[in-house]
Amino acid sequence: MTIAATFPLDPTATPTSAAERAARMVDPGFGRVFTDHMAIAHYNATDGWHDMAIAPRSPLTVDPACAVLHYAQEIFEGLKAYRTAGGPALFRPDANARRFQASARRLAMPELPADLFVESCRALVRSEIDWIPDSDGGALYLRPFMIASEAFLGVKPSADYVYMVIASSVGAYFKGGPKAVSIWASENYTRAAPGGTGAAKCGGNYAASLAAQSEAIAKGCDQVVFLDAVERRYIEELGGMNIFFVFDDGSLATPPLSDTILAGITRDSLIALARDRGLTVREERYALDQWRADAASGRLVEAFACGTAAVVTPIGSVKAASGNFTIGSGGPGQMSLALRDALVAIQRGAAPDPHGWLDRL
Ligand SMILES: *Cc1c(COP(=O)(O)O)cnc(C)c1O
Repeated sequence: MTIAATFPLDPTATPTSAAERAARMVDPGFGRVFTDHMAIAHYNATDGWHDMAIAPRSPLTVDPACAVLHYAQEIFEGLKAYRTAGGPALFRPDANARRFQASARRLAMPELPADLFVESCRALVRSEIDWIPDSDGGALYLRPFMIASEAFLGVKPSADYVYMVIASSVGAYFKGGPKAVSIWASENYTRAAPGGTGAAKCGGNYAASLAAQSEAIAKGCDQVVFLDAVERRYIEELGGMNIFFVFDDGSLATPPLSDTILAGITRDSLIALARDRGLTVREERYALDQWRADAASGRLVEAFACGTAAVVTPIGSVKAASGNFTIGSGGPGQMSLALRDALVAIQRGAAPDPHGWLDRL
C-alpha cells in the first residue's frame, strides 16, 4: 500500500454547501468552525495501526467505562495549514509527528509512525482544501489526538486506542494586529513538576491549568504564567504558550527545555529565525523577581508568548501577589512584531524558507 492510499477518502453524504461554508467562514474565530471530514485510525497490539480513513466527521460512541474518560490517557497536537501562492502547505508537520511520539511514550501509549501522522494531516487538508480561509491571518487548524479506548476500569495502559485528526477554519487570532496581553504570575498553582508530564502535550496538563487560568481572569489578566514547581521562582511558560524575554542589548532569552516545559515548535522556529538574524538567544532560567527588576531598570524591553494558535503574543504587563509591573511601553514591542512578521511570512510562503519548514501538499 502506498502512503498516499493509507488514508482513503470515505466522503460524507451530506457535504456543507458552498454558501453555508462561506457564511461560517466569515468570522470563524478559533476552534468553533469544523470541517466535514476527519482522519481516523485504530490501534491494538494484535493488528497494530489499522482501519485508517478520511471519514465523515461524526460524534463518537464510547462505552461509559472508556479508559480516557476516567484516567485521561490522552495526547494531542496542534498545527496549521496555510494557503500559499504555491498551494496549501503545512508548517513543520514532521516536528509535530516526533512530539506526538514523545508524548505517547510518556503517557504509555503506542507511537504513531511519523509518516502516518504526516500523511493523515496531508490527506485531511487535501479533502478540506475549501475550508482553508484566504483571509489575512486565516488558516486551517489541525488537531490530531489519540485516546485510550478500552472499556476497563483497571488502572493500566489501555489495550485499544483511537487516533483522529479534526480540522477547524480559524481567523486571525488578533484582528487588526497583535495586542499586548496582561499576564498573572501564579505563585500558588504550578503547571508541571520534575518527573511529571509537563513536556508531554496531554489534556491532563490543561485540565490542571484551568483553575490558575480562571484565577488570572479574576485578577483582570488575559493569561496565566507559571513558575517552577520546586523553587517557585523561575518563569516556565504560559498554560499553552512558551515565553521569550527581549533585552536592551538586542539579545533574547527563553527558559531552557526540561521535563516541565513543552517544547514548542513556534519556540524552536523563533530561536532559529533570531539566530539567522545574528541575534543572541540564551536558553536560561529567568526568575520572576529578576524580571521585575529588569523591567524597572529598563534592561528588559519586551516579552512575548508564542504558540501555533496566536504565533506571537506580546506581553504588556505582569500582575503577581508580590507586585505588578509594566513591560516597556506596555504595548507590542518592535522585536516581538519583527520576529512574528518573519515567521508568518515563511508560513504564508511570502518569504524564502531556508530551513525547509513548509510541507507543500
Ligand atoms: C502546544 C503548547 C505550546 C506551544 O507549542 P507550539 O508547537 O509552538 O504550538 C506551549 N506550551 C504548551 C503547554 C503547549 O501545550
